[in-house]
Amino acid sequence: MISLLIAGIVLIQSPAPDNAIRTRIDAEKAAVLEKETALAEWALDQKLYREFSILARRVLKADPESKIVKKLDALDAIPRESVLRDYKTAVNLRMNEYVSEYKKRIHPEAEKLFHLAEEAEKLKLEDLADESYTISFELNRSAKAGAALRKRNLDAIFNYGVVRNKDRDAARAALARVGGGFLDENDLRKELAGWSDAWGMKTRHYRFVTNIKSDRAFRFAQTCEDMYESFGQLMANLGLPVRDAKEPLNIYLFDSAFTTHCVMQLMGHDDSTIEGETVGIYHPSTKIGYFFDDLSKYSGDTLQLTETMLHEGFHQQFDLRLTVAVRDNQSKFPLGWFEEGFAVYFETMSVDRKGKDISYKWGDAVDDDLAYAIQCAGSGKLEPLSEFMHCDPGRFDKKGVGYEEGGALVHFLLHYKNGIYKQSFAKLVEEYRKQGGLKRSAFEWMHADAGRLDREFAEHLAQIDKSLVHRVYKN
Ligand SMILES: [Zn+2]
Repeated sequence: MISLLIAGIVLIQSPAPDNAIRTRIDAEKAAVLEKETALAEWALDQKLYREFSILARRVLKADPESKIVKKLDALDAIPRESVLRDYKTAVNLRMNEYVSEYKKRIHPEAEKLFHLAEEAEKLKLEDLADESYTISFELNRSAKAGAALRKRNLDAIFNYGVVRNKDRDAARAALARVGGGFLDENDLRKELAGWSDAWGMKTRHYRFVTNIKSDRAFRFAQTCEDMYESFGQLMANLGLPVRDAKEPLNIYLFDSAFTTHCVMQLMGHDDSTIEGETVGIYHPSTKIGYFFDDLSKYSGDTLQLTETMLHEGFHQQFDLRLTVAVRDNQSKFPLGWFEEGFAVYFETMSVDRKGKDISYKWGDAVDDDLAYAIQCAGSGKLEPLSEFMHCDPGRFDKKGVGYEEGGALVHFLLHYKNGIYKQSFAKLVEEYRKQGGLKRSAFEWMHADAGRLDREFAEHLAQIDKSLVHRVYKN
């Protein structure tokens, strides 16, 4: 009773420090908002559209009523083409100026918040200290703010921010599962020039650079690591030589189509095939897998997004992990359908985790591609295998049902009658990789003529339509 009373008296006598520091921090936060709003408008005037929208979104998060929302909406209304063109010019002309404006206007505010955080820390106002250090770090990723946060058991990610307290344990567990750590400024030097909000992490087999939210990035990293393990298992299953990648496989994961085009064009990477329904692509020329995490393309269906990632991730591993010497150009028996069909098949991967044991399966469900192939087979719209199996890549690309028929054909070759064609299929993988090594037609490898394979293929599709589970998508 007595001690409570004393505590009460103490509180009444000196209420100032708590409230005073709170008031000063609130005032400083308001000052930051004002400076960020002004800098955002400056960036917009310079046509540095991405920098404007990064700042504008920060402002709106702190103040949803901010008038800046109108300018953000107005930007959305300008045709993408001209935004992209003007943005590229602006980056080349004005980016250095923006960086020094940012330092001049924002860094002093970060410094003020850092000192206020220290004061709050001394007063043991823990939440207030956490918050102020966090904002300070987000405004200026200085080493000292990062160190202060780490001392307070908070995870500061370079160029991203701080993982919120309530998400921290889940984030650490997710990162530990994929064997990950964050990239620092040095690691990201190459990307930062044209991608100012890039942050990244390295996992067991990948190097990810992204500007999406950390929890989604961790989930994506897990999918990639699964994909890596499973690819090894699948190839080993087929008796094919597969190696570990010598360097981490590079993945760029963008938040939107707009960022994708901006960054790829600024870095001089070909973005011409990313449009419409495509949310991912692998470029053998840069060895990078490019994805954008835009669920709106799929009406929020994560299963379809995952399938796209598996598909492009397959191309990357097929290119970098299968060892087969390269010979001449493929000519006599081209296999235009082969790699795409295999990638479509790879999309059906499912993961089974039993404690530490992880196993992967393919082809035990009918996904959207397989369902479409089955439907086309039923209405006689699949191309006869005599035509399909040896078309060249150019002709394959023009086919209406090419990808789906290719995926279904791989399913048939790997699963028909418990895999009677599996060894021949493995041979085809090798021959395809030799690019010209194919000395016999695929039908000879199968020990079957085209007519018989057509009949068996149709029988297989009709049978799996009935016996396998059909995947359900949201849209
Ligand atoms: Zn593909």
